[in-house]
Amino acid sequence: MHYKFYCPHCKNYNLKFRQEQEFAGYDFLVPDLKENKREWIDCIDCNLSFSTPRLSKRQLEYMYSNYRSELFRGESPDEYFDRITNYPPEESENFQKLAWIRDKITSKFNPNKILDIGSGGGVLLHTLGNIFLDADLFGVEPTSNFAELSSRRTRAEIVNGYFDDKTFIDHQFNLITCCQVLEHLENLNDFVENVSNRLIKNGYLYIEVPDISDFQTLEINHSRFSEPSHLWYFSSDFLCNNLFKNVFSIIDFTVIKTVRNRNNLMILFQKD
Ligand SMILES: [Zn+2]
Repeated sequence: MHYKFYCPHCKNYNLKFRQEQEFAGYDFLVPDLKENKREWIDCIDCNLSFSTPRLSKRQLEYMYSNYRSELFRGESPDEYFDRITNYPPEESENFQKLAWIRDKITSKFNPNKILDIGSGGGVLLHTLGNIFLDADLFGVEPTSNFAELSSRRTRAEIVNGYFDDKTFIDHQFNLITCCQVLEHLENLNDFVENVSNRLIKNGYLYIEVPDISDFQTLEINHSRFSEPSHLWYFSSDFLCNNLFKNVFSIIDFTVIKTVRNRNNLMILFQKD
């Protein structure tokens, strides 16, 4: 199919239609949402899948500042934190993913300074603190009530805001984690540069995103695809062989199925 627009990442026109999606029930989060449909498009050249149209920066920021009622779903923030952090290790997805990271980093490497980008209510920071007992913990989170919760319930230093070139500018980390964030970011190249600048040489970066195989395993109208703040869908090929290439080496990657039957791509990189 011929499109008049190009791939927002590689700027090529070699594009393929994947599927159409309706936005349903998001008016309360994005009051000026004009479109009620969007398409998912694959770029044949770089393998990024992207949504068109995409929410503007202003719409996205409005949405994140008003996430509260959507995400806590009838639980108080503290009930949410207690429920997630009280799962035993064998049932805790956070524990499982951090054990996967811990087993892959070299035994001589002690991640004593850790940043979680998009740290939400702090549940991953809580588990990081239990696995890496001596580590200093830091988080950055745009939604204020999440940032407040994580400041109160973890020992991490939290910045309420967006991760950019100024975030923790006086710090260098040896492990950065970033779960379910990349699919929300307008400028992926800026993220790679900023995250690289905050990592020490040979430091580790853990990325977790929705995996493109969701398009095969979930119903076409699944809410995973109609979440309007998701701008991109990723494959390991795009992330490993395109976006992070030349800056990071791949340690390992895998796709896991979550308890909600969604596919998450986990990748551990090391800064060159
Ligand atoms: Zn492309």
